[in-house]
Amino acid sequence: MSRKIIIIGAGINGLVAANYLQRNGYEVSIIEAKAKVGGACTSETVTLAGKDYRYASGASVLGLMQRFIFEETGLSKKLKTFVPESPKLVFFPNDSEPTVIYRNPKDLDRELRDKWGEQGNIEAFREDESRVIDFLQTGYRDAVTPNLEDARSNLGETLTNLWITGDAKTLLDHYFTSDRAKIYMAMTVAESGPVSIREKSSH
Ligand SMILES: Cc1cc2nc3c(=O)[nH]c(=O)nc-3n(C[C@H](O)[C@H](O)[C@H](O)COP(=O)(O)OP(=O)(O)OC[C@H]3O[C@@H](n4cnc5c(N)ncnc54)[C@H](O)[C@@H]3O)c2cc1C
Repeated sequence: MSRKIIIIGAGINGLVAANYLQRNGYEVSIIEAKAKVGGACTSETVTLAGKDYRYASGASVLGLMQRFIFEETGLSKKLKTFVPESPKLVFFPNDSEPTVIYRNPKDLDRELRDKWGEQGNIEAFREDESRVIDFLQTGYRDAVTPNLEDARSNLGETLTNLWITGDAKTLLDHYFTSDRAKIYMAMTVAESGPVSIREKSSH
């Protein structure tokens, strides 16, 4: 049996798959269309009002990339976890001042109320999001494909409907009131492919 494998695309998934296959005796070649590897896990720089800002072109936090993968691939010895000292900044068109995405939900709540007139429940959003991520990560480590039965018994009917079977628009409307908060938060919950946020399972 041939032990040669070709992987199309050197995004994080292609790179991790290549690493596991190679360590298990396969001869792996990767074909990448772009000049640099990393796919949606890379960074770009933009200049706004004469100041350079480095930003992630896709993933900024590899929340679904488990610690055991960093360890098994050897990445943990080569990479240092990068935690930016300052929080993320958001500019909407014509904003002269950025909106600061504080990590502390209470600070973020205040900032979004002041800047965007947001009246929703950011703390509840973050708490529920963590529960869903925790559920997915546990299944991932145990190599269990996520399924609705497990989701309902772990998360309950309401969170399963909101976060798993429903659409991103309903999810955003549930937690937020302002269009700006919904647009920003949509980036963290919406499917990154070309899917309408009104479609079922669009997050
Ligand atoms: C805006 C945004 C924010 C995100 N934020 C997060 C986050 O905070 N945390 C998180 O965990 N995830 C996040 N994600 C998701 C995460 O980035 C993706 O799940 C992950 O990068 C997917 O990796 P991948 O290798 O499957 O695909 P990609 O990263 O898309 O890589 C695919 C690669 O294949 C190449 N390719 C495609 N077709 C061909 C071809 N025919 N021939 C040769 N090469 C080809 C592409 O050039 C690309 O390099 C975000 C995504 C986006 C878009």
